Order: sequence, then C-alpha cells, then structure tokens
Amino acid sequence: MHSREAMYYETAGEKVRCLLCPHQCLIKEGGTGICHVRRHEKGKLYTDVYGKLSAINFDPIEKKPLYHYFPGSVILSIGTVGCNMHCPFCQNWQISQTPAKSFSFRDVYSAGDILQIARSKKQNIGVAYTYNEPVIWIEYVLDVARQIRGAGMKNVMVSNGFIAPAPLDELLTCIDAFNIDLKSFSDDFYRNVSGARLEPVLASLKKIAQSEKHLEITNLVIPGYNDKEEEFLAMVKWIAGELGKETVLHLSRYHPMYKMEQEATPSDTLRKLAETAEKYLLYVYVGNIELQDYRDTKCPNCNAVAIKRSGYHTEMKAIDENGSCLYCHKKIIRNYS
Ligand code: SF4
Repeated sequence: MHSREAMYYETAGEKVRCLLCPHQCLIKEGGTGICHVRRHEKGKLYTDVYGKLSAINFDPIEKKPLYHYFPGSVILSIGTVGCNMHCPFCQNWQISQTPAKSFSFRDVYSAGDILQIARSKKQNIGVAYTYNEPVIWIEYVLDVARQIRGAGMKNVMVSNGFIAPAPLDELLTCIDAFNIDLKSFSDDFYRNVSGARLEPVLASLKKIAQSEKHLEITNLVIPGYNDKEEEFLAMVKWIAGELGKETVLHLSRYHPMYKMEQEATPSDTLRKLAETAEKYLLYVYVGNIELQDYRDTKCPNCNAVAIKRSGYHTEMKAIDENGSCLYCHKKIIRNYS
C-alpha cells in the first residue's frame, strides 16, 4: 500500500493535470501538486497518503464541530497530511502543511482495518474524515466511507469545501454530514491569505445543501482579516438565502497559531457578530471561548434550552427522542438518535 493511482486527472503532454480541486495543478514528472501529496510519475498521478494516517481517535461529535448531528455521540476520526490551502493561522499546521514525503507515518490502515476499529466501540456512530483536508485523499475517503455505509454507520467530512464539482458529487453518494469551513466572504482573503478562491467554496456549499445532506458551517473570526461587520453581514445573509436559515453556523475564536502572531479575537467581537448572525440564522454557536449563551442549543420557537453543553459534554434538557423541543415540539435536530 505504498502509493496508489489517483482518481481525477488527465495527461497534458509531458505533464498531468489533477482535476480534483479547483487549483487544477499541472504537474511535471516527479513533481507534486499544491497539496504536496499527489505526485506525477511516468504519466500517472499517484496519491502518496492512501491509508497513511497521522491521527486516529474516537472524538465527541461536538469536536468536529457538529452540534445538530447525533449530539452526544462519538465518532472515529482520522486524518493524513497535506492541504490544498496554506492558511497562516492553521490550527493543525504540523500535519496540514507537511508534504507526504517528510512525514513519518507509523502505520498503514486498509479500509477494512478502519471498519473493524469503528465497530470496536459501541457508542461510535461511524467515521469522520478530518484533522487535515480530506478532499486531497479522496480515494481513501471513498473506500472507507463505502465500507462504513455498508455496515450501516455514518460518514462525516470536515473540509474547506475547495473541491471540483464531479468529485464532490461522488462524495455525496456516501458522506452523510459535512462541516465546511467558510473562512471569509472575501475572494481577496481566499486568494491572498489562504491561496485559494471563494466562489468554488460557495458552489460546494450550495451543492451540499441541495443534496439535503447534513451541513454545518464554521467561520474562524480573525481580527482585522474577516471581522468587518459589513462583510460578515453579507456572508450571513448569503447563508440564510442560499442554504437556509436552519443552517448551523459556528463562529470560532482565533488564537495565535503557526505563522500568525496577532492577539486572539476579543470576546466582544464574537458576541457582536453572533448577535448579527442570529437575526438571520436560527442556530448560531461560538466556540474556542466560554460564551455559554452561544454554546447551548436553544429552541428557536420558545427559547427553551434544549441541549446544555459544557466543554464537549452534552446534557439533553428539553428535547424528545425525535430531536424536537419538549415544550413546543419544534423540530430542532433532524438526525438525533
Ligand atoms: S488536489 Fe492537490 S494536486 Fe490536485 S489540483 Fe488540488 S492542490 Fe493540485
């Protein structure tokens, strides 16, 4: 299981063109794409991270974060290395910004190995593809996800959403829930800070929402970069208008990390933006900081605290076995148990 031929590429003269994400890298013999894990060798494109994991853990589903998808459950979470973006604030930069050839992988796991591990814990609902960008190891995601789905378990993908339409369609055949990182509503931010583009991410979000798969969005708020009220308002209105007001939004507090040294996001900024978001969206949360009002799930109809959260611990306060409010019966969680 050293390297395996990649999906989604074409030959282009002496080079190959990877068609997996919107970068569409043109790769010369011996070279890799922007993600540093897809390599051209003798006219073929190979993935160098198939089955090679940098991390494997049973995590609370709330850690992904997914707050409206089987709350209180556990999910086997796996990641490899590499990313098709290069954000200077990346919280997992030790794995996301490391080329496959520079990482010492301890073990290689077949899809069957992952299924066996997933089944070994009773409370586990399935597998989350996370930690680094799963789009760039799609071959392994698809192989594992098909086995997991075949066993009646769930597949979750935590992604930046920077993927071409055809591979996203293929993922939609077996992924049940997504958390997509919407880093900013500015194409300049995507181009100059993350080395990508906004429009393909918005297109992915629309496609996922139209597929009716479960979707939550995370927006990391970085002072001076993406915290302008006007731009944030435009983003929230777009989410409500294009994806629906029930779309769950997680605002996440930035802390100095990797190449970015400025101070952490003030709690006032997060509170103000959350208040703005709440005018358009039913479920707004704030993470990486203790703001209890924005941690619990409240019924948008009668304001009862349906789910109380403390860290990753969840307490079902006023929610019935169908995920509806105990008091007014508003459906809050579509995938509950
Ligand atoms: S997946 Fe990697 S190699 Fe393929 S286009 Fe995207 S960055 Fe380039």
